[in-house]
Amino acid sequence: MIKIPQMEPWFDEAESNAVKSYMQSGGFVTEFKKTQELEKMLCRFTGAKHAVMTVNGTVGLMLALLALDIKTGDEVLVSDLTMIACANAVALIGAKPQLVDVEANTLCLDLERAKEKITKKTRSLMYVTLNGRSSDMKRVIQFCQKNNLFLIEDAAQSLGSYYHGKHLGTFGQMGIFSFSTQKVITTGQGGALVTNDDKLAQKIRRLKDFGRDKGGSDIHNFWGWNFKFTDLQSVIGIEQMKKLPFRLQRKKDIYQRFRNGLKEVKKISFIETNLEDTSPWFIDIYTKDADSLAAYLAEKGIGTRRIYPPIHTQKIYGESYKGATFPIAQKYSQQGLWLPSSSKLTNTEIDEVVRSIVEYYKWKFH
Ligand SMILES: *Cc1c(COP(=O)(O)O)cnc(C)c1O
Repeated sequence: MIKIPQMEPWFDEAESNAVKSYMQSGGFVTEFKKTQELEKMLCRFTGAKHAVMTVNGTVGLMLALLALDIKTGDEVLVSDLTMIACANAVALIGAKPQLVDVEANTLCLDLERAKEKITKKTRSLMYVTLNGRSSDMKRVIQFCQKNNLFLIEDAAQSLGSYYHGKHLGTFGQMGIFSFSTQKVITTGQGGALVTNDDKLAQKIRRLKDFGRDKGGSDIHNFWGWNFKFTDLQSVIGIEQMKKLPFRLQRKKDIYQRFRNGLKEVKKISFIETNLEDTSPWFIDIYTKDADSLAAYLAEKGIGTRRIYPPIHTQKIYGESYKGATFPIAQKYSQQGLWLPSSSKLTNTEIDEVVRSIVEYYKWKFH
């Protein structure tokens, strides 16, 4: 029985009261004013000029690719160590994800390795800021400019994380966030695109609403489908946004407490994390004993989760990347373990997890 889950969402009366009063107000539930309000909050929080809500982060990535006119046969550089959504969003529109190994110090896509993967068909770099960390974003932008690539930032795990004080997701042509149940804050499912480009923002709004130029119109001069959000979810999102600053601070404190508690455990390493800029989404540790540690913790009722398998090893992509090697992604994937990371976690629970990990290493190496 799991006592301390790896992750759980955090709602209280604020969300249930807001949903109740919204339902009593006679709202249409579908996307309307509450979604606009949530979008404005996201603009204020991230500093982006435009924010557009959509059904989820994966569709957000797909809309970004469509808005940039990336087409069948084009190639997009994607990290090998990320959630499958990145590569699959590229595949969904008929383009090819060109996988690239990561850097050991940030676990983000390695620009040196990316150089080797550029072909005449490469149109975009999808840059995932894994767990709220990034490399030097100025270098990422320069790399894209030099190679004539659109920069799409997958900041699904980076709400509340910055590079030198500028919010991640706002460096490229477009950035996306996710509000699935696992993420920093949640609307169950949900995604947002952010951009400073008026034309791209307009294009995304058309793409997600049947190509309409204004609500309710049945004249279609542009392509579009239906990837709209709902006001009912936005009501929850607005309440979650109000708690965001507190939760981000809590994420930082949780990370710090784990680091301090585990600093004597030499078999565990952490990725160097600057807590001024990064609010770690999850607590990630790296150890050669990831599997057996996870099993030991499970017996104590402590939930963990292994970090992603490298995308090139997934069966759906296996054939396309035969013979290619991604040593850093492979190593960190084999060693990565996500510890309990909900912002609901109490200090007592953190200390219990730390104690169990210390015990495990005593038991294993006595
Ligand atoms: C969660 C996540 C996504 C997908 O977001 P959904 O809202 O679940 O579709 C994409 N990229 C990364 C890095 C993620 O963590």
